[in-house]
Amino acid sequence: MRHLVWFRTDLRVADNPALYEAAADGAEVEAVYIDCPGQWRCHGNSSIQRDFMSRNLQVLNEQLAQLGIPLTVLTVDTFAEVPAVLASWLTTHTFDALYANRELGIDERRRDKAVQQTLLVPCRVYNGDCVVDHGSLTTRSGDMYKVFTPFAKSWLASLRASGYRLLPVPEALGEPLSCEPLSLSGERVSSEAWSAGEAAAAQRLTQFCRLSLRDYGELRDFPAEDGTSSLSPYLALGILSPNQCLAAIEAELEQLPFSRGEPGFVWLNELIWREFYRHLLVAFPRLSMERAFKPETEALQWSQDDEGFRAWREGQTGYPIVDAAMRCLKQTGWMHNRLRMIVASFLTKDLHIDWRRGEAWFMSRLIDGELAANNGGWQWAAGTGADAAPYFRVFNPTTQGERFDADGDFIRRWLPELAEVPTRVIHAPHDWLDNHVPGHGYPKPIVDHKRARLHAIAMFDALKDRE
Ligand code: FAD
Repeated sequence: MRHLVWFRTDLRVADNPALYEAAADGAEVEAVYIDCPGQWRCHGNSSIQRDFMSRNLQVLNEQLAQLGIPLTVLTVDTFAEVPAVLASWLTTHTFDALYANRELGIDERRRDKAVQQTLLVPCRVYNGDCVVDHGSLTTRSGDMYKVFTPFAKSWLASLRASGYRLLPVPEALGEPLSCEPLSLSGERVSSEAWSAGEAAAAQRLTQFCRLSLRDYGELRDFPAEDGTSSLSPYLALGILSPNQCLAAIEAELEQLPFSRGEPGFVWLNELIWREFYRHLLVAFPRLSMERAFKPETEALQWSQDDEGFRAWREGQTGYPIVDAAMRCLKQTGWMHNRLRMIVASFLTKDLHIDWRRGEAWFMSRLIDGELAANNGGWQWAAGTGADAAPYFRVFNPTTQGERFDADGDFIRRWLPELAEVPTRVIHAPHDWLDNHVPGHGYPKPIVDHKRARLHAIAMFDALKDRE
């Protein structure tokens, strides 16, 4: 028997159900990755993520070679060409079955359906990206949960009842192979600040659990601290699995936390958010199609403020915490979660700009860009998403800065023009700058927050009038 494993966003050999099952019955195994540069551009993914993908593919290539499994990279432009190229590869190389882990976006699901309809051999697809499989958690009426808290309860009950399954690396299937270096073509931005490969991800995970898991609840909201795991680039490309995260929590705490207040629970809860958004993406295909989760919010009258969008994108809004966050994103391809919430709220509720423009900008810059979490985060912030909070929750960018970057350490790191500003005025530095730094160049606030907030609330109130 000859089995082909098709790697996608699951670039790991450990806890990889498709790889494990393909190798389980002593079959000969080969692997393939299909690069689709046109699709990458069409989905608006970033050049830094492409670089990270390429470097991780090379590490995977080496690991598979150690297991006696050759990896081939095929290149076509878009998903539309994938069924034909796979069918031809399977036939030419006489494979008996195709193995893959599921991907969740609508384009990926349509591609996989077309592949299944085209192939003459069985196509076996597994859940490799969630602890609890998509579609398995439903309300009493059989629907997907639309709010996080009951979903999380149900998710925890499932984990308690069934546990999680952590698959080992398959045993070597033959002598180690030599492997040629491989790399993806196209424009790339260096991702070297992030070590590539499963071993690097595992090390980061262990270190985070040892040093920060217990304090995560206290530190996670402060961007100047190293209080979160920074594992998102690895989880987004499947270099690390959520089961491995659970195993690391268990190894550190000797048991999994199941309720609020237990050590480690706050971090586990973030992993549940990750799964919530993934389950939503499967249950509501419109989320992959730039549509609002709450259909009535499609009628919101967003502003076409291109100048405001440019100022936001470039970190020139005159609100220091927003500007520092946006410049950090531009320079590093990553942003802290608290800051993602602040800047997303600012774009949608202070500038009244459509969340889709922010979502796309994030995707084009983030190293961890990932449709489910990015769309979920943006719609949560914009008030169009699966969120129990009232629409009149509008973050105040100044008080958010005061609460979460009280000394201004994060702001000064990213806004050199504010380096000399004293802490007492760092969140509203304009008068001080005018008096002390002639020609400082830092912009005045581009909107008045109080007025902008009222306008945002009026936008949502107008929806009620339409009912
Ligand atoms: P930790 O705090 O250590 O959390 C561990 C893991 O849990 C993360 O790596 C991530 O996989 C998951 N996670 C944490 N918070 C969330 C959340 N709110 N929603 C979903 N999953 C979560 N995350 C992405 O991975 N890709 C994105 O494209 C993305 N876009 C976002 C856009 C907006 C507007 C917002 C508000 C959030 C977005 N997030 C996204 C979620 C979150 O900000 C990041 O996952 C987190 O900042 C990554 O840092 P970390 O790895 O240190 O997370």
